[in-house]
Amino acid sequence: MGRTGTDGPTERRRRGVRLTQRVFWDLAVYMVGLGVVVGVVFPPFAVWLGVPAQTAGRPLFVTACLVAGVLVGGLSYAVCRVVVGGRLSLLSARLRTVADGITQASRTGDWSQSTSQRIDVDSDDPLGQTARAFNSLLDSLEDGEHFRALVRNASDVITVVDRAGVITYQTPSVGWVLGHPPGALIGTAVHDLLHPEDLPGFRARLAEVAAGSEHTACPGARMRHRNGTWRWTETVVANLLTDPAVNGLVLTTRDVGDRRELEEQLRAQAFHDPLTGLPNRALFMERLRAAEAGERDGVPAAVLFLDLDNLKTTNDDIGHDAGDALLQVVARRIGGVLRPGDTLARLAGDEFAVLLVGESGVTQAPRVAERVLSVLEEPVVVVDRAVRTSVSLGIATSDTAAASGIGLLRAADIAMYVAKTSGKGRCEVFAPSHHAAQLDRERLQADLYHALDRQELVLYYQPIVDLASGDVRGYEALLRWEHPDRGLIPPAQFIALAEESGLIVPIGRWVLHEAARQAGVWQGADGGGPRVSVNVSVRQFQHAGLVADVADALRSSGLSPARLTLEITESLLVRDTVGTTVKLQAIKDLGVRLALDDFGTGYSSLSYLRRFPIDVLKIDKSFVDGVASSTEDRAVVGAIVQLGRTLDLDLVAEGIESGDELAALELLGVQYGQGYHLGRPAPTATGRPVDRRRPASAGAALRVAPAPRSGRPDELPRPAAGG
Ligand code: C2E
Ligand code: MG
Ligand code: MG
Repeated sequence: MGRTGTDGPTERRRRGVRLTQRVFWDLAVYMVGLGVVVGVVFPPFAVWLGVPAQTAGRPLFVTACLVAGVLVGGLSYAVCRVVVGGRLSLLSARLRTVADGITQASRTGDWSQSTSQRIDVDSDDPLGQTARAFNSLLDSLEDGEHFRALVRNASDVITVVDRAGVITYQTPSVGWVLGHPPGALIGTAVHDLLHPEDLPGFRARLAEVAAGSEHTACPGARMRHRNGTWRWTETVVANLLTDPAVNGLVLTTRDVGDRRELEEQLRAQAFHDPLTGLPNRALFMERLRAAEAGERDGVPAAVLFLDLDNLKTTNDDIGHDAGDALLQVVARRIGGVLRPGDTLARLAGDEFAVLLVGESGVTQAPRVAERVLSVLEEPVVVVDRAVRTSVSLGIATSDTAAASGIGLLRAADIAMYVAKTSGKGRCEVFAPSHHAAQLDRERLQADLYHALDRQELVLYYQPIVDLASGDVRGYEALLRWEHPDRGLIPPAQFIALAEESGLIVPIGRWVLHEAARQAGVWQGADGGGPRVSVNVSVRQFQHAGLVADVADALRSSGLSPARLTLEITESLLVRDTVGTTVKLQAIKDLGVRLALDDFGTGYSSLSYLRRFPIDVLKIDKSFVDGVASSTEDRAVVGAIVQLGRTLDLDLVAEGIESGDELAALELLGVQYGQGYHLGRPAPTATGRPVDRRRPASAGAALRVAPAPRSGRPDELPRPAAGG
């Protein structure tokens, strides 16, 4: 890898020890030298062995000894040269073979054969040690090759660059990551490969490592492919500037395109609603936070909070697939009236929100709201049925929300709540007073949790009177909350809260028991006495334990079932689910009567009156109000009377406030009535004389079969004065 040393092989060889030239020359000198020494030393030695001194001293003997010594030395040299030289040549032959193999391999790149040969070592002499050293040299070469192979075949691109970022080495994998042939980029700057947006960050990381830090990572930078496209990569930079074998910065670059794509997908899933494809709450909140940060820099924003009014009904009536289809159409329609920069999100089941950023967004917000309301006016066709839908819409803008110290979304939500409670399908612009009202509601809701335990709930009873005779036929039990600080709170202010929180179930159960207990006390020995009517709200009706609660209330009070009437509203029947029919029938099977409250205000589909086992229609106060003055209202009441007769239902007119209304109703044939004119709701069952204007009934007064003594609700009502 990129070795740029200046020592040539000749120089390196020259610097080595001159071993090979001298080994046999030295041996020859030593051997012959040894022979000379032996030749010189032998004559005196021969005397010692018993040769006569004059013989040993003869020049011929001395010469012969010298010649023999030289010959033996020369012979020893020759034998040594043959034996040791043979061994050495074996070793050198092996070395040569392997060295040639390595040379060849480094040229071809095929290292598979080059390092396979080893020398068998059978001694520990220097020759054996040399052979062993040679073997371990081959092992190291093989290890080095192993790593070289790993590097070359790694899927990551390994690039060595100098301090300036110029590429000095690159693995062949650059071919399939960036499409360049191996080595093609050597000499070019790695920076040239980077996307202009990612370059500054990349450059800074490289400089940081070049300046001395050990390593760093450059996550997510785009590099140009040879074909001109950009590839997402991730690079780890290691500082090997001081490693003489590398002498550079090592960049390990990986193609992370697939991973990024997956991340993008996951991110899209995590931030989008799968049903509508819209941003979800998480993404909306992210954008909202950005908008709220922008507000501080003077860029205003507006939020529209939308709540679909009838998704639940659609789900219940036509099924969840229809509900889903409805949501998709609604999302498309709302999206169709927005500008490209606006964010529409689905926050939860039937809640949507729109974020409008900038001065124009804020000024346009009411118009956007109008357009949303108008595009949703047209019925949506789902599963071959035209579903009418509407939204309640709240708008909040930075200035009013900030003035109330709350977030935009919460302000818009509060405004939406105001819109919803003051009639659905409306739009309301947030005002700081809404916030105060909302806080108040929240406090009330918190108090409501304890109202039952603290016995703050009471029932008032309003008489239901037979209009012809003036007799009280029954009482409607109406719930009141005796709040310790706020005084007496009417149900309109807390029933919706109880519904929202689910508290309506235990509260409704208490009402049932208490009303039945009270009517049980009124009940005479013959099972007579006034009936009692109990209001049942939708959520309470849907609760699985309702029928059991009713049976329980009857059992524990001893009230005859026919004395109990449950008042339900049309909205319940409109849903027309199998469950509704079964439950209504189960209540009927107990012997309890069913009344349809506020009749005429709801969906008023007459078909369900035949399908459901209803006994009583309560004509809504809004018709009663006009019955004396408006021919139209009179006609409506007349039609309801006809309907009642046809279906054999009892009719009760609600909210009678004057003698004129009373007279008009009686004339139309309404049998029963209820209203301030006949008796206000009171903690005890009371009635007061009726101001009847027509001479025919002038003498008649409200007669209450059983009348109460004052103050104690448990006591039976007594006939009223004049009765
Ligand atoms: P509702 O069942 O239609 O009850 C009749 C409402 O009209 C009562 O209001 C009653 O006080 C009022 N009212 C009666 N006569 C007149 C009149 O001549 N003029 C006027 N202006 N109003 C008259 P209240 O007691 O405030 O109850 C309101 C609603 O709250 C009830 O309407 C009923 O829907 C609900 N509600 C009351 N008690 C309960 C309860 O125990 N459970 C449930 N779920 N809802 C209840
Ligand atoms: Mg009622
Ligand atoms: Mg009513």
